[in-house]
Amino acid sequence: MKDKLILVAGGGGFIGGHLVAHFRDQGYTNIRSVDVKPFDEWYQLFDDVENVEADLKLRDACRAATKGVSQVYNLAADMGGMGFIENNKALCMLSVLINTHMLQAAQEAKVDRFFYASSACVYNADKQRNEDVVPLKEADAYPAMPEDGYGWEKLFSERMCRHFREDFGLVTRVARFHNVYGPHGTWDGGREKAPAAICRKVIHAIETGKDEIEIWGDGKQTRSFMYIDDCVEGILRIMHSNIEEPINLGSDELTTINGLVEMVEDIAGVEFKHKHNLSAPKGVNGRNSDNTLIKKYLGWAPGIRLRDGMERTYRWIHEEYLKVNRGETVRT
Ligand code: NAD
Repeated sequence: MKDKLILVAGGGGFIGGHLVAHFRDQGYTNIRSVDVKPFDEWYQLFDDVENVEADLKLRDACRAATKGVSQVYNLAADMGGMGFIENNKALCMLSVLINTHMLQAAQEAKVDRFFYASSACVYNADKQRNEDVVPLKEADAYPAMPEDGYGWEKLFSERMCRHFREDFGLVTRVARFHNVYGPHGTWDGGREKAPAAICRKVIHAIETGKDEIEIWGDGKQTRSFMYIDDCVEGILRIMHSNIEEPINLGSDELTTINGLVEMVEDIAGVEFKHKHNLSAPKGVNGRNSDNTLIKKYLGWAPGIRLRDGMERTYRWIHEEYLKVNRGETVRT
């Protein structure tokens, strides 16, 4: 099995890069990694992998990418944290071209299995109005009222996977990721998500002698965050399971954003004043993952403690921040 060709679409990105690294570590010898970004912007780039720079919105590029492939992991999407998705709804929705063409190409290429990375942003907004949130069950995506732009695209693409499975017999698997974080991801530039942004703000304040950091919203919004190693393990478990419907892949360790800031400050050994920016994008008030189904089907759920993952993430972002400051890299 380990010499069959595996495609990671979006392999230059955060999760895709970790997935490629994992396959290499496991001894897979035939990996194709495709991303639209130039190679010097990929978070992880390996010489022994077939790396391809291509725009997977294009059907021909998807055909070339899936040629001879046995498993497709589609992680390619134009995405980012709240600051990006609230201000770039059309760009987010255009990712529908990626998954649509990828499904068509995968069906033509007769791949064995197809994985699609969906998101907790598909869930009905009405179920996420309170900070004191009831964890989201898979059924809570309907009736549909997802995050505008990004969430609608994910919900539509989930259904495309379902209908390609039902009508064309393509084996599709769909996971709804809840906030993934960890090293080798975006931490600056506008697409970063809360855990990385908070680490960067704390590091920046320390390095520049500031005594205050800005927090988006009132900080009372609740979230769960999944460490990247749990995400990779979950992707593989779901891909090779019999789970046909979209399933949550997220941590159920709930925290407030204020709690996350205090955790990062504790890791860094500092305590700053907090300025809450109430007009900044902050997303829904509360969101957590209900892991009943994943535990039932897989006997497993993400379990890496937030504190442990944040310590590793903080250390990595700190090193990257210093490298940028020393002019050793311009990539963030
Ligand atoms: P990322 O932005 O780091 O990775 C996505 C990659 O897709 C990027 O490298 C980007 O260049 C690439 N891409 C975009 N358009 C492309 C195109 N037209 N052709 C080829 N490549 C293209 O994001 P990530 O955090 O690694 O997310 C991976 C997947 O997981 C995405 O589908 C995302 O929507 C989903 N997801 C992520 C999270 C999270 O917290 N990170 C949460 C929910 C869902």
